[in-house]
Amino acid sequence: MTQTRRIAIIGGGFSGAMLAARLAEKGVASTLIDRGRAFGLGVAYSTPFDGHLLNVRSNRMSAVEGRPNDFVDWLTANHPDRADPEGFAPRRLYGLYVKDRLAGVEEAYPGLIERVTGEATSVDETGVSLSDGRKVEAQAVVLATGNPAPKTALPGEGGGWVIGDPWATGALDRVGAEDDVIVVGTGLTMVDMVLWLEARGWRGRAKALSRRGLLPRGHEAQPDAAVPPTDDLLHAAPSARLHEARRLAGDAGWRGVMEGLRPITARLWQEADAPTRARLVRHLRPWWDVHRHRIADSIAAAIAALQAAGRLTVTAGRVRTIKETEDGVALTFRPRTGPEAPPLTARWLIDCTGPGHDPAKDALTGPLIASGRARLDALRLGLDLDPQGRVLSADGVADSKLFVLGPPARAAFWETIAVPDIRKRIEDVAGALTETT
Ligand SMILES: Cc1cc2nc3c(=O)[nH]c(=O)nc-3n(C[C@H](O)[C@H](O)[C@H](O)COP(=O)(O)OP(=O)(O)OC[C@H]3O[C@@H](n4cnc5c(N)ncnc54)[C@H](O)[C@@H]3O)c2cc1C
Repeated sequence: MTQTRRIAIIGGGFSGAMLAARLAEKGVASTLIDRGRAFGLGVAYSTPFDGHLLNVRSNRMSAVEGRPNDFVDWLTANHPDRADPEGFAPRRLYGLYVKDRLAGVEEAYPGLIERVTGEATSVDETGVSLSDGRKVEAQAVVLATGNPAPKTALPGEGGGWVIGDPWATGALDRVGAEDDVIVVGTGLTMVDMVLWLEARGWRGRAKALSRRGLLPRGHEAQPDAAVPPTDDLLHAAPSARLHEARRLAGDAGWRGVMEGLRPITARLWQEADAPTRARLVRHLRPWWDVHRHRIADSIAAAIAALQAAGRLTVTAGRVRTIKETEDGVALTFRPRTGPEAPPLTARWLIDCTGPGHDPAKDALTGPLIASGRARLDALRLGLDLDPQGRVLSADGVADSKLFVLGPPARAAFWETIAVPDIRKRIEDVAGALTETT
């Protein structure tokens, strides 16, 4: 086993940590850089709350491509009460699993993974610079930086009654048991926050608002058999494909149709021409997201119960203004349909709009784009990449020394958010990085 390269991986969440482990198993050394100390967890698996469940069944959450039972085996050994292969385990346990795998590989391949805690501020041909002046020398760099924390134009962030980053430690501590909250965003983060409040004894009301007012759909208790995609679903014109999807869903259920599309989504995205991609992003994306990224059946039931009790209302509309008063927040909005509506008022406003990210302005990727080493994809979803995850320069040349992994690689793969998709990408990136050693 010869060690000829060192790879710098920026981001020690699931993607970066599991790539480092895979590289070590292949005999390649890496430096794993994260601004926090909890390597392997990232935002998704840092939660201490056991009511935050995975939204993917345990038997699909193996961190290792080719070892499908890895997570269920780990649960069986460590938390047998949560080891149902078709159940939805707490995300906290998943974090422990990822940490264990990282530590296990470090022990088995000593010296091949170096952990560095620090803020990566720039990337060049020789490696990565950190904010405190340190430099990590590397032959290749992987950006596994995940989704950035929510960053919207909501006023009042950082003080008063607006909770700008709900994932920040202690963010919900100030919300009193009887306080009403406005939640901007009705997706997975809203679900997490409302249920977390509930578990802490909160008895107020949540008034959730998003442009379309769509809630994530729930899984069934039992897994859905994948409906094999038909020729029309795969090859017809976009509107005919949608029609075919609806027809299949009418016959066999929409969850089965989504399951059938799951393994080939990245390929379909890569085969789609630019206008088709643009239409999908503009018109279909919110619908796709709520059907594709489903919540555990028990979580869906808890949300439905809050709605039925009148403690969670969901409104479709666009934020106009947010004003903090002495004792709370008032939000005016333009309803998606129907007449003008009175402002939403509450003690607190929680920003659950998710990441608002512009790679051209990002401290790490902005200079890469400005210098022509990288470019944005046509839809500005992220950096433009080749099918192996290598960054494309302004001239469209793939850079074998610069890769993107995980959610920021969405421009190339569309679905690269969940573990089953990311672990495939890890295999590809690890393969590409070792090819030349
Ligand atoms: C709340 C939530 C729940 C989820 N639940 C599931 C689920 O149940 N199942 C599933 O499959 N997927 C789930 N996901 C999807 C999730 O994105 C992936 O599973 C996975 O965690 C992504 O990991 P990542 O390492 O790519 O990103 P992240 O976990 O975001 O990690 C990126 C890391 O990079 C670090 N970083 C970023 N920039 C810098 C910098 N400049 N310098 C140093 N460090 C930096 C960050 O601190 C962070 O630790 C969930 C996501 C969220 C947000």
